[in-house]
Amino acid sequence: MLYSHVLVAVDLIDECRSVADHAMALAKALDAKLTLLHVVEPLAMAYGGDVPMDLSMLQQQQFDQARERMKAFAGDYDLPEEHLQIAFGHPRHEIHRVSTEQNCDLIVVGSHGRHGLALLLGSTANDVLHGAPCDVIAVRLGKKGKK
Ligand code: AMP
Repeated sequence: MLYSHVLVAVDLIDECRSVADHAMALAKALDAKLTLLHVVEPLAMAYGGDVPMDLSMLQQQQFDQARERMKAFAGDYDLPEEHLQIAFGHPRHEIHRVSTEQNCDLIVVGSHGRHGLALLLGSTANDVLHGAPCDVIAVRLGKKGKK
């Protein structure tokens, strides 16, 4: 089997749907398992690491919201709940960690997303390639997110 477990990293913005569609079609064609992963970034990380207040409640809300958004996002794909993963931390690190722990042999990301609109390859996509534990496909997104 070429690939048996595909991990698709989704930032849950609209553009990412075509990345997930691509990964789904690939997994079906290969008769592989598909896992969707969204990484919730710590607020302190998003705001530069120095926010002088207790963020734990906000972060729990952020996590709960991500879970709901993931369920809505994944509604079309008919995947068992354990194939929908939410992690907390740095996207590159979490994408690598989950793909190693779950024995994924292919990671699919979008060429850009929230951080990479002006770049050829977004920062996360670029990051994920470096030191990846398995093969990585970056699905190229058009200027307006349409392939
Ligand atoms: P970016 O580097 O933000 O432009 O994103 C490029 C790609 O990385 C996106 O299309 C997603 O596939 C993936 N990605 C970015 N942020 C996340 C995240 N928080 N969780 C999961 N995947 C992500």
